[in-house]
Amino acid sequence: MEGNTNNNATSAGVRVRFAPSPTGYLHTGGARTALFNYLFARSQGGTFILRIEDTDEARSTEESTRAILDGLSWLGLCWDEGPEVGGEAGPYFQSERKELHLKFADRLLKEGHAFVCNCPKEDEAAPGEECASPSQKAKFDERCRDRELSEQLKLLAVNPNLPIRLKADKDKEIVFHDLVRGETRFSTNEIGDFIIVKSSGGPIYNFACVVDDSTMNVTHVIRGEDHLSNTPKQIMLYEMLGWQPPQFAHVPLILGMDRARLSKRHGATSVTAYRELGILPQALANFLLLIGWAPKDDREVFTLEEMVAAFSIDGIGKSAGAFNTEKLFWLNGRYIRELSDEEYLRGIFECVPKEWRRAKRDDYIAKVMLLFKDRVTYFSEIEDLAWYFFRSPEIYDEESWVKVLAGNETAQAVLREVPLGYKTIEDFSAKSIEEFTRAYAESKSLKLKDVIQPMRVAVTGGRFSPGFFELAEILGQAEIAKRCSEAVKRILSNESAKKDMPGETQ
Ligand code: GLU
Repeated sequence: MEGNTNNNATSAGVRVRFAPSPTGYLHTGGARTALFNYLFARSQGGTFILRIEDTDEARSTEESTRAILDGLSWLGLCWDEGPEVGGEAGPYFQSERKELHLKFADRLLKEGHAFVCNCPKEDEAAPGEECASPSQKAKFDERCRDRELSEQLKLLAVNPNLPIRLKADKDKEIVFHDLVRGETRFSTNEIGDFIIVKSSGGPIYNFACVVDDSTMNVTHVIRGEDHLSNTPKQIMLYEMLGWQPPQFAHVPLILGMDRARLSKRHGATSVTAYRELGILPQALANFLLLIGWAPKDDREVFTLEEMVAAFSIDGIGKSAGAFNTEKLFWLNGRYIRELSDEEYLRGIFECVPKEWRRAKRDDYIAKVMLLFKDRVTYFSEIEDLAWYFFRSPEIYDEESWVKVLAGNETAQAVLREVPLGYKTIEDFSAKSIEEFTRAYAESKSLKLKDVIQPMRVAVTGGRFSPGFFELAEILGQAEIAKRCSEAVKRILSNESAKKDMPGETQ
């Protein structure tokens, strides 16, 4: 396998990759990077590769790889080459490409672009770091950089566990055209002779990444801006290996609403967490698209196919976008409304609390769930919205109580009389309940709302709920009567308590 020396990648030959390290969950930022790569590949008729960068043995886990694969599949971001599907450029686990990395490290050594470093171990960069500090740089520069190759090979023969460093360019400027940021410049003097193969024998990220991107014929590297400072190192490696670098597009990071880098402090940051919250995959993908990418018009709702049709790298903004959870919920609500009732019920049943499932039959739960289809914004929100279908209110919303029930004699009469009237309704359907309630309001010269609101507060504990008649039909006449009478009792005991309080009476 040789690196990519072809600079005429046509659009049909577009090859992009998402290269996560399996050291945690699939972060929403990572998912967005995957999405942008996927959309670019699809919009160009190209190939979307998934490469698992598992060279950090201590931190990589199978569980994390699983979470990444599941998260991407759930979002609908199917990869054309990678784990589980294979492909000609494999293996797709970086740890299985080690021989290839070492072959090119050897070449760099033989061609004088790299050197064996036998500085004391403590001068070696810690795992994950790649560059020594400036003081360390000075130490090994003097001792190792200019040693003859034969001397280096002798050192290696004695101690095969010596790290290999790149002989980084000095006093040079590395300039590249980033597809998002435009012309980008770095001085090589900011880059020390960084390690490419650690003393453990493992290749370091910047080196493995270049070898893999090149041997996998990757044409465009679309990734987070946190990798921008790695790019000059990688370009240096491409040049020394005589390979054509890919085009780079560094996507601004995702921020929280407070403009700080998105972290757990801002709430859920993993794709799995949003899945468990009851966010739909198409809504999350749509939402991630809009953080940092803008369409040419002001459209906001896109299916995955529409995203492919609309996407272009030049729509990616230079400044970081914020993760606005309210907007995600709004968007998700829109997608929920578009589901068929079957799809909706299948999704929301996953989030129905276990005690509700134990207490009520599925057909009762289904009816309740359908009442909320036009107002729930994420499935698990149902626990806060629909609880009063499963237990009577023990605590009433204070504002509702004060505004609607407290000291309101008409409301108290409604709570006494209407449930009695409901007893006479034969079929207790929403329609009959409505007819009776309207007739009652008219007979008392009340507005319909002056009847419904007291009933609603008594039955649901607050002033906001789905349509009262539909709700009453599901709860049933006996339950309505019970809750109204409980509310009346509560009103009376509050009033007598007030009277008993010294100083309260006039
Ligand atoms: N494994 C790196 C990461 O997860 C990949 C960076 C890249 O795309 O080059 O951040």
